[in-house]
Amino acid sequence: MIRLARIPLPRRTMEYLERYDDRVRSAADPRSQAETLWKRNTTVRTKVHPQLRQMLGRMAAGHERCMYCGDNEGCAIDHFEPLALNPLRAFDWANHLLACTVCNSHHKRNEFPRDVEDGSPLLLDPTCEEPLRHLRLSLPTGSYTALSAKGEASIRVFKLNRPVLVKGRTDAYTRACVFLEAWHAAHRCGDRRRAETLVAVAWNQPLADVLASMFHQAAHPAGPALFAGEGDLYALLTDPETRAAFGSGPTAATGIDASMP
Ligand SMILES: [Zn+2]
Repeated sequence: MIRLARIPLPRRTMEYLERYDDRVRSAADPRSQAETLWKRNTTVRTKVHPQLRQMLGRMAAGHERCMYCGDNEGCAIDHFEPLALNPLRAFDWANHLLACTVCNSHHKRNEFPRDVEDGSPLLLDPTCEEPLRHLRLSLPTGSYTALSAKGEASIRVFKLNRPVLVKGRTDAYTRACVFLEAWHAAHRCGDRRRAETLVAVAWNQPLADVLASMFHQAAHPAGPALFAGEGDLYALLTDPETRAAFGSGPTAATGIDASMP
């Protein structure tokens, strides 16, 4: 999971959302109304859903990857706070994320744990906060460990350590190293176009959380220990020119801040 920036909706789509939000709020049974409108209303299905899906696809990492696992194609509009639990947020743009079928229908479903003391959500919303402050990826093994209660709940609910993701992340780590070395070679030769292409393609790979974690961990005070035995890679990840190249361009579009410690 990586940090993503939410983009504003076109005015017409916002007007649709406000119209249907009013209808849910004024209904005698908001949940039933929200479900009916969201799932069966023709205008919602033909005009609202496609526009939301398109905007979420632009916000997502890579080629419209799931905002939770980062691996599969995001094909469903997920209500971060489930419609069944809070129908009043059914048409709230801030509550819409892009998810794959596995994360949305098999794992998250209607789970939405809250802090027992203050009631705040315990799942990470990558459009609201930096997931890597709550999750630490072991680059050699591809597994996440939690740094907070939010991290713990997110790993559990989204099944972030399911075997297919763990294996995929170890490959993604190898792939990211290859991209970084290729970028370094192109940069050294002054081949600017190739260097820019490599940055874009590196971020467009599935499981971009691995590349984001590499930059994140290298900037951490524990960076030298985390990259022990990988001096060349650590030097590249902490080099200001590398960080400037990978922290702008296509990353700006996805809101990834690779330079953030
Ligand atoms: Zn997913």
